[in-house]
Amino acid sequence: MYRETIHHAAGVTEGTAHERHATMLLASAVRRGYAVEFTPAGGALITWTRHLFGPGGNSAVRAERSISLEPLTPVGALSATTRLDLNLIAGDRHTRYAEKDGRRVIAGLTWQIPAFTTARLRARRLVVEEGDRLRLSLTARLGLLAQQHRTRTTDPRGWYRPSAGDPYGVAGLNRPGGRAGMLRDGGSAAMCSCGALSGWGGGRDEARRLTRDHRRAVAAAFIAEHLASVPAPAVSRCDCGGCAECMTG
Ligand SMILES: [Zn+2]
Repeated sequence: MYRETIHHAAGVTEGTAHERHATMLLASAVRRGYAVEFTPAGGALITWTRHLFGPGGNSAVRAERSISLEPLTPVGALSATTRLDLNLIAGDRHTRYAEKDGRRVIAGLTWQIPAFTTARLRARRLVVEEGDRLRLSLTARLGLLAQQHRTRTTDPRGWYRPSAGDPYGVAGLNRPGGRAGMLRDGGSAAMCSCGALSGWGGGRDEARRLTRDHRRAVAAAFIAEHLASVPAPAVSRCDCGGCAECMTG
C-alpha cells in the first residue's frame, strides 16, 4: 500500500493506492513520457510539466505536476543476505509458501528460506502472495533498484592556486579577496553505485542533473520491461478520486 499525493490543477489530493494501482500509474507515466524516479524506501515520484495557455491563447504557462507514491511500509536497508534471498524469490516462478516442522517457509523448486527469515520478509512486506505462488512486492522491487543505483556528486574543487607548470597559472592575478593568482574549478563528477555512470558537470547543478537523468533512465527501462504490460483501466479506481483525470490535468 502506498500513500499517494497528487499535485494537480486544483491543488493537492492525498489518498492511498494499492500495489496494482501504483503499477498502473507507473506504466501510464512511462507511456506518456513523464519522468519517474524510484526511492530507496520502495516508492516513486512521477513528475511532468503542463503547458497552459492564457485567455489570449498565446501566453504559455508552465505548470509542474507530480504524483508521489510513498510506501506505508518502507523497504528499509537491504543487507547482502536479504538481497540474495530476494533475488532467489524473483528468479524462481515456482516460489511459494511451504511448511517445515510446522512453520511457514518460503520454498522454490530446489531451495528453502528458513522460517525466521521468511517471517521477517513477510513482516517487511517484501513478498506478496498471488494465487498459490509468491513474488516480490512492488516496494521490494523498486527499493532494490533504487538501492542498486545510489548516485552522488563530488564537491567542486573551488578556488585553487595553480602549480608552476599550469598553463593558466598567470590567470586571475587581479582577483580581490586574497584570490590573486588563483583559479576556480566548479567542476563536479557524477557517479552511480552501479558503475554505469561516470559523468562530469561544469558545475554541481549540472552534475546533479546527470545523476537525476541516470536514475530516471533506469526507472523508465525497468517499468518498460517489467510493468508496462499492466493495462490502463478504462475507469479509474483510485481512492484519490480520479488519477486518470489527474494525469492529464
Ligand atoms: Zn546506476
